Amino acid sequence: GCGICVNKCPFKAIMIIGLPEALKEPTHRYGPNGFALFGLPVPRVGKVTGILGPNGIGKSTSVQILSGALIPNFGQEKGDWDTVLEHYAGTALYDYFKAVVDGKVRVSQKPQYVDLIPKAFKGKTSELLGKTDERGILDELIDYLDLKSVVDRKISELSGGELQRVAIAACAAKDAQFYFFDEISPYLDIYQRINVARLIQRISKERSVLVVEHDLAILDMLTDVIHIAYGEPAAFGVVTLPKSVRVGINQYLKGYLPEENIRIRPEAIKFEVHPPREDYQLRSMVTFGSFSKKFGDGFALKAAGGSLREGEVLGIVGPNGIGKSTFVKILAGEVKPDEGDPGIDVKISYKPQYIKADTSVRVQDFLRGISKQFGTSYYEVEIANPLQLDRIYDSLLTDLSGGELQRVAIAACLSQEADLYILDEPSAHLDVEQRSMVTKVINRFAESNQKTALVVDHDIYMIDMLSQRLMVFEGKPSVYGEAHGPFSMEDGMNRFLKNLGITFRRDEETRRPRVNNLGSRLDREQKESGNYYYSA
Ligand code: ADP
Ligand code: ADP
Ligand code: MG
Repeated sequence: GCGICVNKCPFKAIMIIGLPEALKEPTHRYGPNGFALFGLPVPRVGKVTGILGPNGIGKSTSVQILSGALIPNFGQEKGDWDTVLEHYAGTALYDYFKAVVDGKVRVSQKPQYVDLIPKAFKGKTSELLGKTDERGILDELIDYLDLKSVVDRKISELSGGELQRVAIAACAAKDAQFYFFDEISPYLDIYQRINVARLIQRISKERSVLVVEHDLAILDMLTDVIHIAYGEPAAFGVVTLPKSVRVGINQYLKGYLPEENIRIRPEAIKFEVHPPREDYQLRSMVTFGSFSKKFGDGFALKAAGGSLREGEVLGIVGPNGIGKSTFVKILAGEVKPDEGDPGIDVKISYKPQYIKADTSVRVQDFLRGISKQFGTSYYEVEIANPLQLDRIYDSLLTDLSGGELQRVAIAACLSQEADLYILDEPSAHLDVEQRSMVTKVINRFAESNQKTALVVDHDIYMIDMLSQRLMVFEGKPSVYGEAHGPFSMEDGMNRFLKNLGITFRRDEETRRPRVNNLGSRLDREQKESGNYYYSA
């Protein structure tokens, strides 16, 4: 361990070797043995500042301090603003806190868990939004975020993606000096994520904006500067000094922060560039026939047949409301098609997009009931440790947070005896570290057991690291959808990104995909040559 935790560090994934001198004194500590926060993000007018790091590491604490609601105590019993101003004299935070003390900083926040909004607000969408229209731009926001059709609906009837956009509109409509968006991507597809990113960039022109985001492609394109946050969730958190976005994300992926001289992870998160492979040796595992499905006079889905190979992971991408979940539900036999038949005769294990815990059973009892291998060293190494399950073994399923439940559901899916494993949006509610671990777990599972996995997700980094081939859904959201592919990664990504009108390049150092600026030289060149997604 690093020696500063009271308890033994349970978070084996993050290993902190020694702490720099500058971190001897916390910015804030909740009581003598409480959580300690070191450092603070620095909001700046005209910039979108990002925080990259796990949950439970002091992001909300930081925002409470920056909003003036919590006076940092520097590890003492009680904080006072004079000491704070003295502490930050001569730094970028001095002017900021001076304005806070003078009552000149109003804060507008988008909460992390939009699912909780219907519990707190009972009325219609228009009533919720109406109260926030302090800048006179609400109508514009409703239009831009495609919310026209939901303003007259009750908040309790909105989907996750609609709630997320309502919450973003509410935050943006308020008149504030400091805006905080605690995650923008949950429930949104990549097109919507990019739309919201552009909106936030516009807000930041005359105000300061702080964003927490776990979709790295979005964090990368959205922010102007980032802080990395690391530590031990619930024990301590460290917010680094600001870094340039490219350098910061690369350091984070490599797991080593040179300026801080800190290793935050034993191994790097690596991107492999998948070359188009003509010489694919994998055997065909299952073929599925063409089928179609129509919901009353609503949405219609059409899927051509295809084949899946043994040991491969197939990504599925496409906008929201295009039939991805319906497609996998039909494969899994949960929904019957109207015409045709997938005709899959192998055993399928399926993790739905929306997971619900309805029995209050303990996590370990639940998992033990599913897998004969529970408790074996194979299970520990391949499933339980990377999914950080042991720390929640004694919790009840019904008490788990969204991210905890997601990890249990992924473990449960991979614990079933089956040939084809289908996971619908496994990245939801997970932080970057957990997404990378889930990716590794699924990849190793498919490869070492020669099983096939189908993964629906919107996180491009995750899809890039996971998939050998890609299916692309196209059509008109909530009206009709068509399943295309499987394609090679390159062909599939080019097709998908062409529909979106965005191009990616590869980072020279880490090979991670990066969104090109719209209309930049690379963007224009790549669009012209059809290389929307650089594989080389
Ligand atoms: P994040 O936003 O990164 O998830 P938070 O800032 O909400 O993290 O919380 C960091 C830690 O501080 C958590 O372990 C939390 O339990 C603890 N904490 C938050 N608020 C208080 C408080 N008022 N008193 C004591 N501990 C707190
Ligand atoms: P995706 O997973 O791509 O977001 P879905 O397959 O969940 O898309 O949904 C596609 C469309 O079908 C949406 O417009 C959705 O509202 C509609 N839909 C899904 N299930 C049903 C159902 N059981 N009855 C009626 N409409 C449905
Ligand atoms: Mg879906």
